[in-house]
Amino acid sequence: MHVLVLGAGQLARMMSLAGAPLNIQLSAYDVGSGNIVHPLTQTVLGHGLDNAIAQADVITAEFEHIPHSILDICQQSGKFFPATEAIKAGGDRRIEKALLDNAGVRNAKYAVIKTREDFDYAIEKVGIPMVLKSALGGYDGKGQWRLKNRADIDTIWQEMAECITSSDTQAIVAEEFVPFQREVSLVGARAKNGTIAVYPLAENVHTDGVLSLSTAIADQNLQQQAEQMFSAVAQSLDYVGVLALEFFDVDGALLVNEIAPRVHNSGHWTQQGAETCQFENHLRAVCGLPLGSTKLVRETAMINILGEDTLPKELLEMAGCHIHWYGKEKRAGRKMGHINVCGDYSGELQRRLCALAKVLDAQAFPAVDDFAKGFSV
Ligand code: ATP
Ligand code: MG
Repeated sequence: MHVLVLGAGQLARMMSLAGAPLNIQLSAYDVGSGNIVHPLTQTVLGHGLDNAIAQADVITAEFEHIPHSILDICQQSGKFFPATEAIKAGGDRRIEKALLDNAGVRNAKYAVIKTREDFDYAIEKVGIPMVLKSALGGYDGKGQWRLKNRADIDTIWQEMAECITSSDTQAIVAEEFVPFQREVSLVGARAKNGTIAVYPLAENVHTDGVLSLSTAIADQNLQQQAEQMFSAVAQSLDYVGVLALEFFDVDGALLVNEIAPRVHNSGHWTQQGAETCQFENHLRAVCGLPLGSTKLVRETAMINILGEDTLPKELLEMAGCHIHWYGKEKRAGRKMGHINVCGDYSGELQRRLCALAKVLDAQAFPAVDDFAKGFSV
């Protein structure tokens, strides 16, 4: 089986690693350069989409910001999963919000802004404080503004107007500011026959808008709500593959923040913590194979390595500690890899995170440092 992935980053790389034992071979289409590359070595294997589509049994994607013209070509081949409708929803907050509303899934009150009049209407409808997000192209908290005081309306409008006029299709989605206690996400897979298998929820900590720490949690009430919303979204899209839903937890009630029609950073813990990891389950789903068990096999947390290309050697000696590098060139704040930390019995994961905090640089890994400080109180 040969799978072509749109996108040649770390998610394609980890899909490739997970596919090998099942004899599923991957190649990756670098949307920027038009090259077909090997997802592990980045060796150029060819150029252009048409040949790659002809040679692939299945096509999938590792990110949602893909030109619609490319998506449409892939859709026409009949080999593309999940359907382009899902990728388009993940890449455009207007489509995403409409999808959530139509599926009857709770999400933050919002309004779409193209003009100054729209902005005034949004302020009335959504209220202050509000979060403003570019409809297209935002990720890792980029392309966002926070309006907290009326005094800032004009300044923020100037910045947003620049963003809106940068392209014909751009707009801003204004959302009410949600006073959440924490953020969680649900990663799960839906097979071609409609079977759904979801992982336990992950609790997510962000640092400067980027995910820094993600821990699998057991919370029956939240899990139940999340699974119900997951099914509603996945079914409404007739989704095939791994899908992630990000939520705000407000006093024990979940609200969807956004959806990601792909394997997700908050699901990387499944490589060590679940019976079948998200990358393998995504490949199983898109290749029409039965899904693997999503059962938690050990308590696990994932720490993102941001902007660092070396780690203390001691980490390799620490039990339950697994390093995953992405083979990328170092750049400030860039996702360079992650560390999965596991514990075999209750409390062991927390102890190991505290041990890690002593070895890791607190400035580079503030979420681990904060965790350790909170744990020792
Ligand atoms: P990523 O790609 O990392 O998921 P993103 O750029 O797609 O991020 P969001 O997930 O929408 O953006 O927002 C980034 C973060 O900003 C959220 O994880 C949350 O902490 C905060 N945030 C977003 N929307 C709201 C909101 N309506 N109210 C309060 N906080 C919010
Ligand atoms: Mg997000």
